[in-house]
Amino acid sequence: MRRTASLPLATALLAAAAVWVVQGQAPAPAVTDAALRAASPDGKEWLTYGRDYAETRFSPLRQIDAGNVSRLGLARIWQTNALGAMEATPLVHNGVMYGTLSYGAVFAFDLRAGRILWEWDPNVAYAIQQRACCGVVNRGVALYGDRVYVGALDGRLVALEARTGRVAWSVQTVPTDEWYTMTMAPRVIKGKVMIGNSGGEYAVRGYVSAYDAATGALAWRFYTVPGDPSKPFEHPELAMAARTWNGEWWKMGGGGTVWDTIAYDSEADLMYVGTGNGGPWNRDVRSPGGGDNLFLSSVLAIRPDTGRLAWHYQTTPGDHWDYTAVQQITLADVTIDGRPRKVLMQAPKNGFFYVLDRLTGALISAKPYANLNWAREIDLKTGRPVENPGARYSGTQFVSISPGPGGAHNWHPMSYSPVTGLVYLPGQNSSLNYGAMANYVFRKNVWNTGVAFGQANQPALPAIGPAPVEGKSGFLVAWDPVTQTERWRVWYEAGFNGGTVATAGNLVFHGTADGRLIAYSADRGALLWEMPLGVRSMAAPMTYELDGRQYIAILGGRVSNPAAGLRGGAGAAGREQSPFLPKLFIFGLDGKTSVEEALATN
Ligand code: CA
Repeated sequence: MRRTASLPLATALLAAAAVWVVQGQAPAPAVTDAALRAASPDGKEWLTYGRDYAETRFSPLRQIDAGNVSRLGLARIWQTNALGAMEATPLVHNGVMYGTLSYGAVFAFDLRAGRILWEWDPNVAYAIQQRACCGVVNRGVALYGDRVYVGALDGRLVALEARTGRVAWSVQTVPTDEWYTMTMAPRVIKGKVMIGNSGGEYAVRGYVSAYDAATGALAWRFYTVPGDPSKPFEHPELAMAARTWNGEWWKMGGGGTVWDTIAYDSEADLMYVGTGNGGPWNRDVRSPGGGDNLFLSSVLAIRPDTGRLAWHYQTTPGDHWDYTAVQQITLADVTIDGRPRKVLMQAPKNGFFYVLDRLTGALISAKPYANLNWAREIDLKTGRPVENPGARYSGTQFVSISPGPGGAHNWHPMSYSPVTGLVYLPGQNSSLNYGAMANYVFRKNVWNTGVAFGQANQPALPAIGPAPVEGKSGFLVAWDPVTQTERWRVWYEAGFNGGTVATAGNLVFHGTADGRLIAYSADRGALLWEMPLGVRSMAAPMTYELDGRQYIAILGGRVSNPAAGLRGGAGAAGREQSPFLPKLFIFGLDGKTSVEEALATN
């Protein structure tokens, strides 16, 4: 087992330690700041996680449209040997697809030749997996200059040469003796690589960092939870935040991890970050006596050059239920009440769909997109939820709260079409009986929620939002952010379906928990096409054009087999040969109509 180096630059060590397979070289990519801002306006490439800085996941491509999508078939399959679950959105530039498997293993796939150019496996120590609350997953890479940036599960941020996969630099971004992990895709803004971390269930202290893309030097760090107030705060915003906490929260970390969304408005020069739940979940042990506990469960607008806070908006003040607000933030320019507004949209775990003025942080509207009972509404005057009395479990009370800790929306990417004006949001209804853990004592580096799960002994709380449907917990809803109403909704038996992409071809593609890719008409939600892919769970679809043809691509699959040794990508031995092994699926018009046929002729 290799210990990760804590030195900022450990290039030689890592290059030697990592499994690195090179079969060919990718063309030099040279992704510039201007290219990231423009985000491939013709839609041929997909340069950053959510396709553009606004994280719309909308493609102007329309060769595949609602009229011909019934002809969609498999153009190619790459069968990986990855374990864990696929959650990454692959990027496409210069005919090469760059993506991640589990643990932060990176691949470069030659789309014309249909073969892997190189693979890089971070070789994450086996013991790290127990620190990952929710799987050994990874959501993808960032492209910038001639490099590919990835966060490994053990908290390393690594810059790889895009042509070869060779390590340019690597930096350990989290304390290795605390139970942090890293699953998010880095984002690059004006030469800085932005990255957060995970670990809220182990009550670590959350933060987001900016590293120099060229050297890996730390440029700034913004903590989402104040430290010990008897010591100097790391940055001025924390003095204000500390007034919203009680007790000795810093001994427990506090949570607030930044593990998914980062959007950027280049005109306003603000980056938007979502923060995680409280750690421990139970506020009575985290901050006895109450308090909002800034900056938990919040949207933060941060100046990317300096790391200074422009504004903040807290979706769940004094979080008590694991109501993370790291869910995707999408920017749009819309007309509300006859007035053009620059807005930010988020559907955090707590079940409300928020529309904020992204220049000021002012709340414009918030309505329930899922069934929920922890609050009655969001008060537009105060910007705060009106909680249901009884939602704050304490003592020996066990109360059924919806959503549960999985949230009404989790990591699964939504998309926003400026053509339809709708947000395509994959979510789920859920509930959990929350209660306070008796005789809770904080212990470092273990599951640390302060919550017990038992039979509800309190009256049911009144719920709001769309009524649950018997036997169906998952949904895809087309949500109008201007009117805060749903245009259409489809239900699935299971929740935790994959992500979406919307296209100018009046299409929305959705990967499902039961391993299908489905195409709906974007305006009406008509089911136009679907294909079962023989895997468990799907990541998020994306689309690109190559040599005049449009393709849809998605990673899918989930395999859990610790006995086989847990490694992310290339080089692992002794794998279970499972039909569920994760795969990259690429679809085009008039492709193969089944996985079997595509694999046979691959
Ligand atoms: Ca959590």
